[in-house]
Amino acid sequence: MTWIELDGSEGEGGGQILRSSLSLSLITGRPFRLRRIRAGRARPGLMRQHLACVEAAVAIGSAEVTGATLHSSELTFRPQGVSPGRYSFRVDSAGSALLVFQTLLLPLLRTGAATELLLEGGTHNPFAPPFPYIAETFLPLLRRLGLRVEAILEQPGFYPAGGGRCGFWLEPNLPAERAPLHLANDTAPPKVTAQVLLAGIPRSVAERELRVIRSRLDLSEDQVSIEVLPECHGPGNTVHLRVERGGLTEVFSGFGAPRRPAEEVAQEALDAVERFLAVPVLVGEHTADQLLLPLALGPGGSFETTEPSEHTRTQCRVIEQFLGRRIHLEPVVPGQWRIRVPGEGDAS
Ligand code: ATP
Repeated sequence: MTWIELDGSEGEGGGQILRSSLSLSLITGRPFRLRRIRAGRARPGLMRQHLACVEAAVAIGSAEVTGATLHSSELTFRPQGVSPGRYSFRVDSAGSALLVFQTLLLPLLRTGAATELLLEGGTHNPFAPPFPYIAETFLPLLRRLGLRVEAILEQPGFYPAGGGRCGFWLEPNLPAERAPLHLANDTAPPKVTAQVLLAGIPRSVAERELRVIRSRLDLSEDQVSIEVLPECHGPGNTVHLRVERGGLTEVFSGFGAPRRPAEEVAQEALDAVERFLAVPVLVGEHTADQLLLPLALGPGGSFETTEPSEHTRTQCRVIEQFLGRRIHLEPVVPGQWRIRVPGEGDAS
C-alpha cells in the first residue's frame, strides 16, 4: 500500500494530526510517515502524552513503527490489523488518558468483537477532553450513530498529578444501514448548570468560582453544585458548565492549576460557554473536531457549530488525505458555521 506523507507543522501544528493519523491508519491499513511532529508548539516533537498514543496504537494494531521515542520529530507507522480484546495502557506525567481513548476508540469499534479498555493517567486535564465531557457529550452522540460504548470513571486524575483510572467497554460495530446524522439547531432556551469538583483544595476556591459564574450566567442556587472528592485524589479543581439543548448536553470546562486564580478557571469555562450560547447550535467547538471522524467513517451527516478551530480544520485535512473525502465548512452568520461530512460510500 502506498505511504501517506504528512507534515506535522500544518494547521494547528500540534498533536491532533498525530492522533487522527494513527486512528485512520489503523482503520484503513494505510501506512504513514509524519514529519515535523508538533512543529507549531513551543516544545515540539513527541511528548510522553503523544508517545503513549503511539505505543497504544502499535499494541492494538501490531504495527511496525520507527521514531517512537521521546522528542522525536519524525514517525513512520505501518499497522498489520487491529485486534479486539482486553487492553490496559498508562500515561505517565499526568498526560491525558482520554486522548489515548480518542486515538483507539474508532479502530477498536470496527473490529468484529468487544473490547475492554482500562486507561490510567489524567482524566481531568487541560487541552484534552475531560471525563465528564466524554461521558455526557461525546458518547451520547456516538450512540446516535449506532456505536455502543460504556465508560466508567474509577478514579479521577487531575492535572498536574494524574494517577486517574477509567474503563471502557466497546461493543463491535454492527454492519447496519444507518441514516446520516443531521443535527438541527434549537432556539428554545437551554438549561444551564454549573458544577465545581474539588479534591484536597479549600472550599473557598469553589465558592469564588461559582460567584463569578453565577453573576455572569445569572444562575440560581439550585443550578450550581460543589462536589468534594476524597483528598487522596487531589490536588484537583475543575469547573464544568453543562448546557442542555435539543436533547444533547455540551460540557464546557475550566481547569485549576497551581497558582492559577479561581476566577481565571471560571473564566475559561465561561468564555467557551458564552460563544456557544450566542448561537442556537447543538455542537460546541471541541465536539465539532471530535465528531468529524465518527461521521466520516459512518453514515456522514451535518451540523452547525461555532467558529471552526484550527483543530477542526486540521481534522478535515487529515481525513481528506486518508479517505479522499472532502468535508465542507461554510459560514452561516458571524460565529455560526455549517459543516457537512460525507460518509462512507458518499462522494465528496
Ligand atoms: P499539543 O500538541 O499542544 O499537545 P494537542 O493537539 O495534542 O496539543 P489539543 O490541541 O489541546 O491537544 O486538543 C486535543 C483534543 O482535546 C482535541 O480533540 C480537542 O477538541 C479536545 N479538547 C481540548 N479541550 C477540551 C475540552 N475542554 N473539552 C472537550 N474536549 C477538549
